[in-house]
Amino acid sequence: MKTALITGASSGIGLEFARLFAHVHYNLVITARREKKLRDIAQQLENDYAVNVTVIPLDLAKPDAPDELYNSIKEKKITIDALINNAGYGYHGSFKDTDWTKEQDMIRLNITALTHLTKLFVKDMLERNEGKVLNLSSTAAFYPGPNMAVYYATKAYVQSFTEALSHELKDSGITVSVLCPGPTDTEFQERAGVTDSALFSNGMMPVASARKVAKIGYEGLMKGKIVIIPGVFNKLSAWSSGITPGFISKRVIESLHE
Ligand code: NAP
Repeated sequence: MKTALITGASSGIGLEFARLFAHVHYNLVITARREKKLRDIAQQLENDYAVNVTVIPLDLAKPDAPDELYNSIKEKKITIDALINNAGYGYHGSFKDTDWTKEQDMIRLNITALTHLTKLFVKDMLERNEGKVLNLSSTAAFYPGPNMAVYYATKAYVQSFTEALSHELKDSGITVSVLCPGPTDTEFQERAGVTDSALFSNGMMPVASARKVAKIGYEGLMKGKIVIIPGVFNKLSAWSSGITPGFISKRVIESLHE
């Protein structure tokens, strides 16, 4: 049986990825900070799908956490066939007022941990010349995001990094994909402090379910697609970033995050 490692599997899109992989009989390694949630999820998935679920609770914003996760998986003699770098969060506010500690942790989680885990597991995948990596970006990757400037920039990094790495590995047996959801109904909004922002509250933008986003991500990953954008509206939004003058898009995004 194959094994998928899913970061941020305690809620939202990550939890739906765990369900999808268990459904097709992958064993799982799931990680996030909330241990009780992870253990309850593991028990349910083991009962429902007869798979093995290993729980490794960690704060991936801590600099040593990716090494700890990798070493713990090695000690358990588990081979990772699919790495889903899903854990991440957003943070809303004007840059002059936002808290640096929160922003630094967001950079460590959204960028550093994702890159470090990719480095560690892709090396092993290359030895076997087989494996799949999926990194969670966002439609935020395609625009600068006033009032969420650092979050949007972290996703632009994930987008650029993943597309470049997929090119570097194009002649190998490893596929590297990037999933770019638009607004999705998860705990993200509350954590990011955007529950009342126009983006999520005025019905202007379609909000997808986590299940639908994960399913589209899973199918794209299995087909070896490089860039996976769920939904017509989000595809249009990504495409139009190339032709919309910056002063207009920045004004629109600023107002969506007021
Ligand atoms: P979510 O429900 O808040 O899930 C985030 C997951 O990340 C949780 O399992 C959380 O678990 C984990 N996490 C947060 N901080 C962590 C840390 N320091 N160490 C380890 N795990 C941590 O939100 P989601 O929407 O599913 O987010 C998943 C990904 O989708 C993120 O990368 C997000 O940027 C991206 N995304 C979301 C949307 C959206 O509108 N929802 C749109 C585009 C992209 P614990 O709290 O237990 O640690």
